[in-house]
Amino acid sequence: MRALRLTEWGAPPVPTDVERPVPRGAEVLVRVEATGLCHSDLHVIDAAPGVLPYRLPFTLGHEIAGRVAALAPEADGVEADDPVVVYGPWGCGGCDRCATGRDNYCDRRDTLGRHGAGLGRDGGMAEYVLVPSARHLVPIGDVPAEQAAPLSDAGLTSYHAVAGARHALGEGTTAVVIGIGGLGHLCVQILRATTASRVLAVDVREEALALAERSGAHFATLMRADTARVLRARAQGAGGGTGADAVFDFVGTDPTLDLATAVLRPGGELAVVGSGGGRLTVSKPGVLPPGFRLSLPFWGTRPELAEVIGLARSGALHVETERFPLSAAPEAIDRLRGGRVRGRAVLVPD
Ligand SMILES: [Zn+2]
Ligand SMILES: [Zn+2]
Repeated sequence: MRALRLTEWGAPPVPTDVERPVPRGAEVLVRVEATGLCHSDLHVIDAAPGVLPYRLPFTLGHEIAGRVAALAPEADGVEADDPVVVYGPWGCGGCDRCATGRDNYCDRRDTLGRHGAGLGRDGGMAEYVLVPSARHLVPIGDVPAEQAAPLSDAGLTSYHAVAGARHALGEGTTAVVIGIGGLGHLCVQILRATTASRVLAVDVREEALALAERSGAHFATLMRADTARVLRARAQGAGGGTGADAVFDFVGTDPTLDLATAVLRPGGELAVVGSGGGRLTVSKPGVLPPGFRLSLPFWGTRPELAEVIGLARSGALHVETERFPLSAAPEAIDRLRGGRVRGRAVLVPD
């Protein structure tokens, strides 16, 4: 079968013919129907040798949907031909985090030498993917594979970030989403579907503001010098001006972190999702909003992935996707690198 393999750190991945895997023990073989391409794939491809604990080569792709093709004797919980999405973070399976479906925060994460599908283990940019256990599979019903695949990261990561701040997002509150790309546009939809918050969106690209509005944002604005003031004026609360109850930063650079803390209301929630490498200096006393809480959410839990699929089945989530055949993955990667993908790029086996 064809697979897009990373064979050398910092070099373009290579389309390769590899043997179709055979499931053993509790493994499940999934026939891939769609795999999302994401910025973290670029971080993996571009990593210098020694930065990530993964052994080369392996097949890329951590946002995978398809159908169960074959089960090993000890696999249970799914049946052949079931449409499924793959829960991508694969932890040790033995710690109490993994036991409750929170592989994203596995206690043994630093000792495994891999972080999941396409992250040290063979992933979904191939015709088939071997999944270690049926516990990593979530049924998708009639959600199309091209929607379900990106929902397993872009959707799940956004959902997990919102879940961590949901207690702060009741009636009369305001949420700000910075960066309306593959994740941010889903964050807007999830906020609209699962909270009562007013949703304000920020980006540096005009077309991203249109995407924010299509996704249900109440207000969208370009990031400029006075954006913090503009957003504070739009916040709900006692006549506006009180600031945001929660900020979701999908960029994570110095300028976006500065904006986030400038619009945050005292006691607000800041979730930094984007890996932009920005720094936030914390000091007390200082200029940061008193009582604000910072979180650095990573991916999401398996029960949350089931909830995300549930939202998609109810019609509340729609991923903007651009489809590429698997054979055109190098072109898709170039386009993503150049910021020329609309919404999420999804690879489909030829
Ligand atoms: Zn991803
Ligand atoms: Zn674990």
